[in-house]
Amino acid sequence: MFIDLRSDTVTKPSDKMRQAMFDAAVGDDVYGEDPTVRELEERAAAILGKEAALFVTSGTQGNQVAILAQARAGEEMILEASSHIFLYEAAAHAAFAGVQTHTIHGRKGAMDPEAVRQAIRTKNIHHPRTSLICLENTHNKAGGTVVPVENMKAIYEIAQAHQVPVHLDGARLFNAAVAAGRPVADFTRYVDTVQVCLSKGLGAPIGSLVAGSHEFIEVARHWRKRLGGGLRQVGVIAAPGLLALTENVERLAEDHAHAKILAQGIAEIKGIEIDLDTVETNIVIFDIKGTGLDEEQFLAALKEEGVIATDFGPCLIRFVTHMMLSEADVRAAIEKVANVVRRAQGVA
Ligand SMILES: *Cc1c(COP(=O)(O)O)cnc(C)c1O
Repeated sequence: MFIDLRSDTVTKPSDKMRQAMFDAAVGDDVYGEDPTVRELEERAAAILGKEAALFVTSGTQGNQVAILAQARAGEEMILEASSHIFLYEAAAHAAFAGVQTHTIHGRKGAMDPEAVRQAIRTKNIHHPRTSLICLENTHNKAGGTVVPVENMKAIYEIAQAHQVPVHLDGARLFNAAVAAGRPVADFTRYVDTVQVCLSKGLGAPIGSLVAGSHEFIEVARHWRKRLGGGLRQVGVIAAPGLLALTENVERLAEDHAHAKILAQGIAEIKGIEIDLDTVETNIVIFDIKGTGLDEEQFLAALKEEGVIATDFGPCLIRFVTHMMLSEADVRAAIEKVANVVRRAQGVA
């Protein structure tokens, strides 16, 4: 059994979730007749402070229906240069929506509102139209950092002045809310549309939700159908999603505490560099340059020790904590990292 630090997506549904799947009332959701899905969408809309919500198969599908619903081919969207939508969605925005990207390098995942203002295109025959701004919170590549509500508000005010809608990739928005000690609706107040994942830290096996106005959700539902995301008796997967949303949010604090223990532990290992300021939630990204190993060698050696993790770029490794890890697992992982580094440095 490995200590699996690859992602918070590796969690398995609890017995309670499996029982809820078994017991779920279902119907054909393409006809709008699945009561469990409807309950999940209503609860999500209320929690996210939006008029309506839509259950989708994945975070990627949620982000893409939001883009498709709000931008046309030949238009442009502004987003952070290391955002998930830009780096890790197989350029779906280009393949499906035909939307060009205008990237801005953020600080700890937050874009400078002034840079966003300047990136919004003026009316000119040479320019594409700016039709969407995408934010990400928490920001994965920056280390699971919380983009402050104040930053989101400042960008939203600029966007509104230019009549450009704002979408939030909130795959880990509940981590941001728990870390900031604020309700999620404080964050979603400053965006028009939002996507949240149930299958990351919240522990559901499948599913994400997109939320926004009734009008937006109607268009998003049409796009979801076009993408093959109109599902039938899908209450069987909405049921664990409902538990994820209602019972697994507060406990994210435990994952955050584990990430801090992990980060502080490995920070003391010679050869490893980590910016402890970026460890605000459940993600720990660190630099292994000083160990003399490259990512591949480091991960292979770590796997031999019984820990698996993710290559996050040149000399960078990512650890993610989640509900299936105990404090003992996290402390053991620190020891394993120390063993790997010690062996690499030729110290027995
Ligand atoms: C995981 C993730 C997504 C996409 O979710 P999938 O369900 O894997 O498609 C989107 N954005 C961020 C920031 C993510 O971490």
